[in-house]
Amino acid sequence: MDNYDYDLFVIGAGSGGVRAARMAAGFGAKVAIAEDRYMGGTCVNVGCVPKKLYVYASEFSKSFSDARNYGWDSEKPAFHWATLRDNKKKEISRLNGIYNRLLEGAKADVIDGRGRILDAHTVAVGERRFSAGKILIATGGWPHIPPFPGSELTLSSNEIFDLEQFPQRLVIVGGGYIAVEFAGIFNGLGSRVTQLYRGPLFLRGFDADIRAHAAREIAKTGVDLRFEVNVEAITRGAGRLELQLTDGTTIEADAVLYATGRKANLEGLGLENVNVEVNEFGTVVVDAEYRTAEPSIFALGDVTGGMELTPVALAEGMSFARRQFGELENVVDYDFVPSAVFCQPNIGTVGFTEEQARARFGHIRLFKSTFKPMKHTISGRDEQTFMKLIVDKASDRVVGVHMMGPDAGEIMQGIAIALRAGATKAVFDTTIGIHPTAAEEFVTMREAWTED
Ligand code: NDP
Repeated sequence: MDNYDYDLFVIGAGSGGVRAARMAAGFGAKVAIAEDRYMGGTCVNVGCVPKKLYVYASEFSKSFSDARNYGWDSEKPAFHWATLRDNKKKEISRLNGIYNRLLEGAKADVIDGRGRILDAHTVAVGERRFSAGKILIATGGWPHIPPFPGSELTLSSNEIFDLEQFPQRLVIVGGGYIAVEFAGIFNGLGSRVTQLYRGPLFLRGFDADIRAHAAREIAKTGVDLRFEVNVEAITRGAGRLELQLTDGTTIEADAVLYATGRKANLEGLGLENVNVEVNEFGTVVVDAEYRTAEPSIFALGDVTGGMELTPVALAEGMSFARRQFGELENVVDYDFVPSAVFCQPNIGTVGFTEEQARARFGHIRLFKSTFKPMKHTISGRDEQTFMKLIVDKASDRVVGVHMMGPDAGEIMQGIAIALRAGATKAVFDTTIGIHPTAAEEFVTMREAWTED
């Protein structure tokens, strides 16, 4: 047996790295994990977790006004940014501690600092060197802001959570998950939000009906949504930022958030010292076992450029540990991976979009429903829920489900199980609904919208 310091050295203590480290240690491997920033990575510190807490904070503003027609009367409550921000910080510190303890409990050595690969079996952290039978790159992604005059005046999702001052006027650039989620958060908290997207319709990659519905619903909430426009330059004025836009107009803002995608976090990792291959998108190339072109080095999660979702990184981390240290067969199945966008209301989605389903199956049946959520019949809030089922005509299998409405993320998790189990439209139709819920609409859509 080779005489290494560790069986596994993990670089990056985010979702995928921590899961791989803990599970490998559980199989008896000697494991170290290096982290230079914060335990739990993007998801815990500047992603999913604080984002969801801020979504909760933001939704209260609508609930206060919804309550009036239900008989509740009170003065308009005031929002205190510092309270939210500091309570969020406390919760994240608590989670950081849990991650540390989980690793210690698993008997993995936690090393503070950035790992740099020196050769196929050696990692340096600062002045220290460690040898390992296997090295796992799990360094995740990093926000990418395109260069332009004034780009240094912008914020990324790394900074937006901890602003000293609450931005009364916020411009958000981008039309993906992060941009729409933060537009909803700050709009609900009381900022005047302008969202700029360079194309004709945001949320590229989502079902076309969802994209159109989302544009209508988000605009109704008060976000100033502008398409086919981008930022040319930003300059600092007296106590404000001035944005020159490609349509010739200008806007003033207190802060500008760029949510224009993320890049693999590979800087300073020492990949030039080994045979690890990086593709044209700047992500690490791996095979089905997450092995790079250097046989002792593996990579998983966002750094490999697959589905940038925490549960996917967790599944990859488990699969890696099981195969490499548990001698168990375990392949991640990427079919029907559900996801949610925590805009307001939420988007939940699983399976094929209409366009993809048409290309893949040829003949499809579509079922659509748009309705006012029951809660808003009395609250008076102007909001519509949208649901869509896509069925492969030949097999009757439901191959795509999309929703925008309250709790769409929660609802879609159960639907994803049904789709993975191969549920047909007949199974949906014979399932008894839960009344009164919005979700029951998924089992009562009888008339096809179209079929071809
Ligand atoms: P996305 O890739 O989802 O979106 C990036 C957006 O920025 C797109 O609308 C893109 O436009 C636009 N863009 C890219 N370059 C430029 C540019 N130079 N100028 C103007 N606009 C530009 O990235 P996000 O940063 O929103 O999120 C990264 C990933 O993190 C997501 O893909 C997702 O996988 C994950 N995530 C998941 C969440 C969840 O599960 N709820 C929440 C947050 C993030 P175009 O469409 O034209 O390319």
